[in-house]
Amino acid sequence: MSIFNTKGLSSWVSVPADSDFPIHNIPFGVVSYQGQTHCASRIGDFVIDLALLGEDGWFDDLPLGNGAVFHNPTLNAFLELDKKAWTSVRNRLIELFQSANAEIRDHDDWVNKYLIPISDVEMQMPVQVGDYTDFYSSIEHATNVGIMFRDPANALLPNWKHLPVGYHGRASSIVVSGAEIHRPYGQTLPKDATTPVFGPSRLVDFELEMAFITGKANKLGDSIPAEKADDYIFGMVIFNDLSARDIQKWEYVPLGPFLSKNFGSVISPWIVTLDALEFYRVAGPIQDPRVFPYLETLGDKNIDIHLSVSLKPADSSETAVSKSNYKYLYWNMNQQLAHHTVNGCNIKAGDMYASGTISGPTPDSYGSLLELSWQGTKPLKMNDGTERRFVSDNDSIIMRAWCEKDGRKIGFGESVCKILPAK
Ligand code: CA
Repeated sequence: MSIFNTKGLSSWVSVPADSDFPIHNIPFGVVSYQGQTHCASRIGDFVIDLALLGEDGWFDDLPLGNGAVFHNPTLNAFLELDKKAWTSVRNRLIELFQSANAEIRDHDDWVNKYLIPISDVEMQMPVQVGDYTDFYSSIEHATNVGIMFRDPANALLPNWKHLPVGYHGRASSIVVSGAEIHRPYGQTLPKDATTPVFGPSRLVDFELEMAFITGKANKLGDSIPAEKADDYIFGMVIFNDLSARDIQKWEYVPLGPFLSKNFGSVISPWIVTLDALEFYRVAGPIQDPRVFPYLETLGDKNIDIHLSVSLKPADSSETAVSKSNYKYLYWNMNQQLAHHTVNGCNIKAGDMYASGTISGPTPDSYGSLLELSWQGTKPLKMNDGTERRFVSDNDSIIMRAWCEKDGRKIGFGESVCKILPAK
């Protein structure tokens, strides 16, 4: 945990009161600015130029190997270091930008030198994603899907409470917020038909998820114990797992989702560190039956992260369609990573692991339109009077995530994407 997680902490940088990025956050990302792409942090409405701070020697005494680690167009090299290195940089930034260090602002013109207005940069993918895994860890979501597609009396499959179910997904189609994605083509089976048709998907959906990103690698053959997982996890982003429900329904038997899930997944650009999230830990649901010892965790391992989804038609304001919370997840990150590696599977820096759709207990907290409109039987009213069962062409999907406790808020910003008509 950061040694700076104290109540009175403030910054000499002016931070708007409702900002997701006060000095308690200090996330990591990658920006393009004046023709260069390099690693950065953020405070309020400013980007902190980590490449230049490193060049000027402000990280020289930290365990980074060399200060050039932030000159890269991804955070992968930084993530390949260890937790000590990650924490030392965040702590150094908090030290430099806290109010107690206000005199630094006037030395060497710090504001002009190291701070860039957020409106002047273009956000990039923070990491090159090596491997991508998607879990299925919300009991409410798994139950809803089981009720709709299988048997209401036996909604959960027999394995579900014994292991965090997941599948290996596609890394290349994960993109950063601001993406425009065309409605995908594919095969679907019309209702009551026996042969499929080919055309644009009619049932494009979002899945409200969070994803964690690993740093340190383990060797092939070695597993990561649940209680050590925090040392391997760098931080988290919002993850919109776009899904074409009609394509999914036809293709998924027997090996699971394929092309219905890899036409675009959209993340928020700033990785919020586990150090910053530590303050918002909460207990998870009671797991019954008791899990195997390799999945047991001690202490509060869930995190209280408020989540919201809005839909914004092209010519109208956004309508809130879901409010959920990361804390509802049945399986926590430590358990997911322990299970992922219990067979000796090796992980790498920059790998991404999505949580699975995060649905809450009430119908307004469901994390997909499939559930919110209950397979299209309960259309949602938009502010402009139109209805949605699934995503319409030119709709933008806006996901937000933030933590709030004792008057202290940090956030993830947004994952935004626009669905364009089929090409
Ligand atoms: Ca998913």
